[in-house]
Amino acid sequence: MLVALAFTACHKPTAVEDQFTPLPTHAVRFTGFFEDYIRNSIMNWNKGVVPYAGFVQKFRTGRDFFAQGEMWGKAVRSGCMFYRYTQDPELKEILRSTVYDLLGTQRENHSISCSAVDNQPDGPGGDLWERKYVLLGLDEYYMQVDRDPAVLKAMIGQADCILEQTGPPPKVPIVDQGWSPNHIESGTILEPIMRLYILTKDKRYLDFARYIVEDEGGAKGHNIFEDAANNVIPEQIGGVYPKAYEMMSLFEGLVEYYRITGNDHWKQAILNLYHNIIEKEITIIGNGGGDQPFHPAVMGEAWDNTALEQTNPDMRRMMETCVGVTWLKLCSQVLRLTGDPLAADMIEKYAYNGLIGAMKPTGDGFSYVNLLNGIKTNPEGWGGMVDSVYVTCCNLNGPMGLSYLPFVAIMESKEGPVINLYNPAVADIVTPKDRPLKLEIETDYPVSGSVLVKIEPAKKEEFTVRMRIPAWSIATSLVVNGISVQATAGTYAKISRVWSPGDKIKLELDMRCRVIEAPRGSNRSGDNFRALVRGPIVLARDENIDADFNKPVTLVSTDGYVVVTPEQPISENTNMQFLVPTKDGPIHMVDYASVDSWKGKQICTWLPKK
Ligand SMILES: [Zn+2]
Repeated sequence: MLVALAFTACHKPTAVEDQFTPLPTHAVRFTGFFEDYIRNSIMNWNKGVVPYAGFVQKFRTGRDFFAQGEMWGKAVRSGCMFYRYTQDPELKEILRSTVYDLLGTQRENHSISCSAVDNQPDGPGGDLWERKYVLLGLDEYYMQVDRDPAVLKAMIGQADCILEQTGPPPKVPIVDQGWSPNHIESGTILEPIMRLYILTKDKRYLDFARYIVEDEGGAKGHNIFEDAANNVIPEQIGGVYPKAYEMMSLFEGLVEYYRITGNDHWKQAILNLYHNIIEKEITIIGNGGGDQPFHPAVMGEAWDNTALEQTNPDMRRMMETCVGVTWLKLCSQVLRLTGDPLAADMIEKYAYNGLIGAMKPTGDGFSYVNLLNGIKTNPEGWGGMVDSVYVTCCNLNGPMGLSYLPFVAIMESKEGPVINLYNPAVADIVTPKDRPLKLEIETDYPVSGSVLVKIEPAKKEEFTVRMRIPAWSIATSLVVNGISVQATAGTYAKISRVWSPGDKIKLELDMRCRVIEAPRGSNRSGDNFRALVRGPIVLARDENIDADFNKPVTLVSTDGYVVVTPEQPISENTNMQFLVPTKDGPIHMVDYASVDSWKGKQICTWLPKK
């Protein structure tokens, strides 16, 4: 959070300075595309069906099933991130009301827990994972909504109780607590503990974080951090169950720990995991993890060499929404730390395909796991009924992914603004000399690749505008006030000049439709499939409009590209539809995200070859 860093800067500088920082609250407003998804989610989920009172009640009466106490914190943190974006007073009131309802459940030892004091810490119940989410929900409220000292006091009470109950001998080791085989989920409390350290500068929190990272290694019997530092591939980290979501959540905490300690060993561990996830796990739609062939018993929530196995016909569950959203958040941290444009490419890939492709058209939830071929969406997984609403971890995390899009779309460096996502937007920011600067992004991207950025500084000033040139955009045109500028795929184009009011940047991204050959997994199923990607958009065949959706085809392609023709969508809920030439005549393909599988219709993303 920029606010957190600014707050820190007033007191004591962090050991590591980020390359990019997020813009302040409400600085960015989207004016199209993702805005529709964000509004739909806020209206129908955060301000719609979320049973806040039912979530709080579990802290009085106990959980119905393990880890249920995570629900409150997850619902509140996405609401707080949305509030950061919208400043909507009605949303603020909903959040304020549930936060004070929750504070009323504090137990005599100052814990806010679904477990009675005598049962704490409650390993199989998921008590520490739940208390972590209480801390994250309260922290997000404190940072984004209202700096009420009572909220900070409750966070300190919650954290201090955890420090009293778990830790080095003779206390209970934190890695002895949890429900999964290596208890990795309990160690993820690292992130809110580090956030609390940043807020309070109280050494005991940093000591506790050091204990989790340097003494316990994040999990029982496995040093997750050293495995990553040693370049162990994700599917091999942590033993029998390399749980994707929790592992990345642990590393979100490690990023905060690295920022404060400045120990490059941890930076290496973070970057190794990040690169290995990209190489081994991330599929064509930007998410990862699966059940086949390596982890058939764990519901598709484990790392699984999924990038290589994504066409495996045995796959039944893959790409949990919690995994995609946590990947997006981890990428946003890597982007801030390193300024690596690949991290923004990864965010874009997931946002336009996996994330919005998992959202219910009604806005009140997300798919749990997601398929590339077959019935795309499947809401069944961990969760249960709360006040007659079916709540899952993924329903709770999906909105957090959407709330991160304005947070990452435009950032700033010391030299000037950084444009990461080309969603239409208006941003009010400041120049390196602290003068007002307005940015306007006008575009119908990703329908076309034409983007106009208007730069409106209050006064002439020299600074640098960074424009992300996606790795897939091979033939790019970048023009500033009519003069061409170098633009290389997979880099930021850095435009340094004296900027004046009325200056314009015109970007033409390479929207040619690319043929992607499937990777070869363990059963070489990839030999039989190809897919099409246009700009950031994965195309798919949709059973809703095409009975032959999964029939083998031979694409008409040249040099790895297919000439596709935009056409009026057959279904009114489709974002984009194209006519695609094949040797057997043209077929209709639409953007993956638009395909509606909620009533059982199927999708075909990896096209079988004839
Ligand atoms: Zn989930």
